[in-house]
Amino acid sequence: MRALITGGAGFVGSHLADLLLTQGHDVSVLDNLSTGSIDNIAHLKGHKHFHYTIDSVSNEPVLAELVDQADVVFHLAAAVGVKLIVEQPVHTIETNVRGTEVVLTHANKKKKLVLIASTSEVYGKNVAVPFSEDADLVLGPTTKHRWAYACSKAIDEFLALAYWKEKKLPVIVGRLFNTVGPRQTGQYGMVIPNFVMQALSGQPITVFGDGTQTRSFTYVGDVVDALAKLVQEPRAIGRVFNIGNGYEISIRDLAERVKMLAGSTSEIVTIPYDQAYEAGFEDMPRRVPDITRIHDLIGYEPKVQLDEILEKVIDYFKTR
Ligand code: UDP
Repeated sequence: MRALITGGAGFVGSHLADLLLTQGHDVSVLDNLSTGSIDNIAHLKGHKHFHYTIDSVSNEPVLAELVDQADVVFHLAAAVGVKLIVEQPVHTIETNVRGTEVVLTHANKKKKLVLIASTSEVYGKNVAVPFSEDADLVLGPTTKHRWAYACSKAIDEFLALAYWKEKKLPVIVGRLFNTVGPRQTGQYGMVIPNFVMQALSGQPITVFGDGTQTRSFTYVGDVVDALAKLVQEPRAIGRVFNIGNGYEISIRDLAERVKMLAGSTSEIVTIPYDQAYEAGFEDMPRRVPDITRIHDLIGYEPKVQLDEILEKVIDYFKTR
């Protein structure tokens, strides 16, 4: 298989490139290095089945050529990270909506299979956990920029599913739940790399809000394994899949776990949301995936659990 990965120099994209190359596939990466990094793919340069182009998905002639050469497109290029979204809402909306639009337009010309990476963020403030794919999306008002991310990804999903319905373009939507592991940077606000860096440097570990909010973290290796399997399964086409790990933990407990596993003496402090992000910031209280659908279709089961993930991330930051 010849795979094109948009956003392939990013955290998830680069792990997907590693996996597909190991499986003997040909991999092309298109990335503008806005949040991705050349360091993530440096070890792949020179691999005879690996090619990369540093450019934006919105450079249509370049994108069209790469889509043409591929059998399947993994569309991972997106503006991600709550901090980035709150600080640069225009960039977030434009990148996510336009990027997906051009990828689908070009894929449609020769009906190339497209896997759209979406996010658990689309479930928004829904509290009826675990979230199944057909659950309602409960978003906040348009005056709160955080929801622009969920909305932009929901539009991506709508558009992809519309291409399937109306034009028979084969698409698959994967909703990724808090994907974590080595190479993820804390620069855009993600909690685990931030807690680990704080713990290792003896800085205070910053819990935002009261720390009772929960998340379910999924190891990046489990996620890319699922993505690679989904595109091989014809029955996945035209459908939406949660990709996550059902283990739920509060952010305060996560801080304690990181502190303990890193052998850190850092204190754990709480910071109100309006100081951490912006006035009136709304967080989601709980986020847990129902993974029945993907389990039933491709036998997906997350293999790497939280303590092991944290150990891998701690090792990663220690060696940097
Ligand atoms: N968070 C935190 N401290 C940090 C970064 C994030 O307490 O230094 C919290 C954040 O407010 C949220 C959770 O950790 O409740 C997960 O945040 P992240 O940005 O990793 O992902 P998302 O909000 O998209 O789930």
